[in-house]
Amino acid sequence: MSATKPIFVVQKHAASHLHYDFRLEIGGVLVSWAIPKGLSANPAEKHLAMPTPDHEYSYAKFEGVLPEGSYGAGAVMVWDTGTYHNIKHHDGKLVPMDECVKNGHVEVWLDGHKLKGGYALIKTHMHAKPSWLCIKMNDEHAVHTKKAHYFNEDSVLSGRTIEQIAKEG
Ligand code: MN
Repeated sequence: MSATKPIFVVQKHAASHLHYDFRLEIGGVLVSWAIPKGLSANPAEKHLAMPTPDHEYSYAKFEGVLPEGSYGAGAVMVWDTGTYHNIKHHDGKLVPMDECVKNGHVEVWLDGHKLKGGYALIKTHMHAKPSWLCIKMNDEHAVHTKKAHYFNEDSVLSGRTIEQIAKEG
């Protein structure tokens, strides 16, 4: 077992469709969802999250450009990163993260530069493809007003915009 807290990362990804890849370190890999609208601070906004293949742990620090012709070609930004802990309980006990993913009900507390507090990922059956909803939980970090932008859009790694990364690599 790792002595340090597991990490999360959100990578803004200007592929053919702009999205945010939300990744949680579970069992040594980054379990991942693609969220077209990104993560919200408002519990009233439920954002669609599509599961995507696990990534290697080292990918959490990747910022740059995926070349033309490769899968997901386009600029990748480290939009936010930090540590998280599992807060999903059942009968007074923590449910292991891998079981949470299997059960389609993840609840984590994020301690990032931008993202703070509880976030839930809930598997739904609204669409033919497996899809989940990403929902801010109601806590002291929740924002209840309707805003166009809840977060700064620059990289927490380099301070760059997605356009700068696309240009500079
Ligand atoms: Mn992506």
